Amino acid sequence: MGQRMERSGPDPATAYARGMSIGATWAGTHTFAAARLIEATSIDELQEAVATTDGPVRALGTRHSFNDLADSPGTLITVTSIPADPALDVGNRTVTVGAGARYGDLAVWLEAQGWALHNMGSLPHISIGGAIATGTHGSGVTNGCLSDAVAAVEYVDAGGQLRSVRRGDEGFEGLVVGLGAYGITVRVTLDVQPTFLVRQDVYRDLPWNTLLEDLPGVMGAGYSVSAFTMWAEDTVQQVWRKSRIGMGDTPQPSWLGARFERPDESGLVDVPPANLTVKGGAAGPWLERLPHFRLDSTPSNGDEIQTEYFVALSDGAEALRAVRSLADDISPHLLVTELRTVAADGLWLSGAHGRDTLAIHFTWRNSPAAVAALTPRIEAALAPFGARPHWGKVHSMTADAVAEVTPRLADAQEQFEALDPDGRFANDHLRRLGLRTPR
Ligand SMILES: Cc1cc2nc3c(=O)[nH]c(=O)nc-3n(C[C@H](O)[C@H](O)[C@H](O)COP(=O)(O)OP(=O)(O)OC[C@H]3O[C@@H](n4cnc5c(N)ncnc54)[C@H](O)[C@@H]3O)c2cc1C
Repeated sequence: MGQRMERSGPDPATAYARGMSIGATWAGTHTFAAARLIEATSIDELQEAVATTDGPVRALGTRHSFNDLADSPGTLITVTSIPADPALDVGNRTVTVGAGARYGDLAVWLEAQGWALHNMGSLPHISIGGAIATGTHGSGVTNGCLSDAVAAVEYVDAGGQLRSVRRGDEGFEGLVVGLGAYGITVRVTLDVQPTFLVRQDVYRDLPWNTLLEDLPGVMGAGYSVSAFTMWAEDTVQQVWRKSRIGMGDTPQPSWLGARFERPDESGLVDVPPANLTVKGGAAGPWLERLPHFRLDSTPSNGDEIQTEYFVALSDGAEALRAVRSLADDISPHLLVTELRTVAADGLWLSGAHGRDTLAIHFTWRNSPAAVAALTPRIEAALAPFGARPHWGKVHSMTADAVAEVTPRLADAQEQFEALDPDGRFANDHLRRLGLRTPR
């Protein structure tokens, strides 16, 4: 194939690469300490850069993580300017694409060919390489995280050599959610399926007790369901049901005591409705309904900090009760919480490894001190449920706590060390969490 894939909108990574300071994460929550940022424009150039640069190197995606995960004491390298060159393999139902491409741009290209991804994160602006490296997910009780659709990865190793690994290869499950810890991904092969239509309906004021009494039922009442809450009220503010047309889950006007909202007027706290994908029950292509934010708009609030924890869906109601006991302390610092589900997978560092999962997300006001004070309390409340952190978001978990809830962490770390024995792709964040060894 190889038709050109258009990229729309600004690309911050490119702007910084043109001689400006490296700057910060998208939300400004971490200022990069790396001395240099290289913007590779081809795989050859990337290989050359890794082979000839002295000291530590690390991949930087579209910088939508909220912590210092992507930083390096040496050089950052971005692959966002390497042409995406998507190639569809209809027989195997896969697409192979540059890792620096944004999900939203790939989605537009796939839709034009009549194909679809199984799911999208809330924003389509993230790079594919960065999203899969952290186990980014959307929602849906039968939908794995975005990394779960990865069939193969091509990457540049610590010596600048091009390597590939595919589903079925030994250790593959330890490399997809790889946190940039062993190389720089250049091309990714993703499972695809024929395009489909989705409608998005909003329900307001679902009673909290109704949610807690049948969490899997509520969260499973559509192809992708998200619930938004501030924790303190008696009802859950909004439930967004994204229903796949033709799968028999068309929403009913009256549902579980919640108010069916029509016409489409829902904003999200501090996010104008115009920045959100179309709701109000109008059917549209998957790529214009599964993400919350429109590709051509500013996603989310921007002046924010995000935190997210993963628990087993079967423990979800109890876990929510535990967090709710902190509601009065949480809500003054919160923009909104979103609850989503992720189907179990076998990826060693996925938040949904081995268990169908409830994802409990917090978009905080931009008050780092308040967030730093609250995350340990939320983690303590969720500890009995073996909560795992989202790698790309802010949390306070120690290496010991992370090891306890990540059964394959030692295997992943061993594989990273074997592939990168000199620690070129290691950084303080990975060492702090026990994902790379101290040296
Ligand atoms: C507004 C907003 C909404 C979000 N919504 C969601 C959501 O719905 N679901 C969810 O799960 N998360 C969500 N996130 C988090 C986001 O998806 C992750 O932080 C993701 O990693 C961002 O991708 P990125 O390209 O910006 O990666 P970066 O932040 O640039 O990097 C993250 C990690 O990926 C590595 N990496 C990047 N590119 C490569 C590469 N080519 N090869 C190897 N490693 C690489 C980096 O080294 C680093 O370790 C959201 C974030 C924001 C800001």
